[in-house]
Amino acid sequence: MTEPDTGSMPAFPGGGLRLRRLDAWSLRVAIERPVETSFGIMRDRPAVFVRAEAEDGSFGYGEIWCNFPACGAEHRVVMAIDELAPMLTGRAFDAPADAFGHLWDKTRVRVLQTGEPGPYSQAIAGIDIALWDLAARQAGKPLRHFIAEGAVDAVPAYSSGIHIAIAHEAVPEARAAGFRNFKVKVGFDMAADLAGIAGLRKSLGAEERLFTDANQAWGLDDALTFAKGAQAYGLGWLEEPLRADAPAADWARLAKDGGVPLAAGENFTGALDFDAAIAAKSLSYMQPDMAKWGGVTGCLPVARAILAGGVTYRPHYLGGGVGLLASANLLAAVGGPGLLEVDNNPNPLREGVTGERIADGQFHLPDGPGLGIEAIPDGLGEHVTLHRIWKA
Ligand SMILES: [Mg+2]
Repeated sequence: MTEPDTGSMPAFPGGGLRLRRLDAWSLRVAIERPVETSFGIMRDRPAVFVRAEAEDGSFGYGEIWCNFPACGAEHRVVMAIDELAPMLTGRAFDAPADAFGHLWDKTRVRVLQTGEPGPYSQAIAGIDIALWDLAARQAGKPLRHFIAEGAVDAVPAYSSGIHIAIAHEAVPEARAAGFRNFKVKVGFDMAADLAGIAGLRKSLGAEERLFTDANQAWGLDDALTFAKGAQAYGLGWLEEPLRADAPAADWARLAKDGGVPLAAGENFTGALDFDAAIAAKSLSYMQPDMAKWGGVTGCLPVARAILAGGVTYRPHYLGGGVGLLASANLLAAVGGPGLLEVDNNPNPLREGVTGERIADGQFHLPDGPGLGIEAIPDGLGEHVTLHRIWKA
């Protein structure tokens, strides 16, 4: 895994930053309708939120990816506070990227020793998001404008996480909520998947688009069968038809012969994978998940490289509200023909933080500094399963 590019990133406006406190919470919400993917079922929705506080009282929020398996949420809280926070003790950092680089360097041997690159990457990403939020608050600007002066304040969005078997109900619900783009999960039963796509296509309006996500379900033969079977339906893309680590030759063959634009990136684990995928040109859309790898520090240069490479940046995100706001801010800052992923499934850990943001197919970002939230709403306190604190 290549080290993230942390060069020439904005500094903390308040000068060298010393942290005095880091909080991490895991939250867990029971759900009525399980979220089913081809690799497994989410029976509750977890989230891990982080709050970083500097010696001058400035603060910022972040989120650590923990979607699956859901049992990993509390582990990431402990990792952020007991394992990573002490590495930040007694140092001043000029920029969020400096803290990221320090944590990254300090954990490389432990990543090998533990065999846990994922939780380390995700915990570092969440802390990084909190430090960028903090920096933007110090500057008194929304995070997107702190990153790029020309950032926009609304981004086109799509409704995600819809199982093909319930799409006939969920798509009209998403449409009523203001969405124009819909992504359905496939990879369960080939004939039923294709029949479902055919039925959905007929129900779409002229301005609406349909996307599909197989969550790494297939080998090359099945992926080709689906792609050719769905060719006539004008899919916006087919996401992760193959495993993220499938041979480049399989991705190239599917791109050449499948007749459907391909998307992937949520399971790429570092700059090397993104660079290789950009160079290979098999993907039309790339989908880094900033709470899963890289935070702002890692994903900002990756998103810019994606666009420079002629690929479209479409951030992946399916967690709580803090990470969704971060994902929206990064897309709004980077630009390009992006489309924000917004989970269709009810989740108070998401909408309880962001509030209603969708209108006319767009996600309208908050105007306040940083991510635009002042606190995790008190009402979510009942869902907290673990709260851990580090103090300098
Ligand atoms: Mg996906």
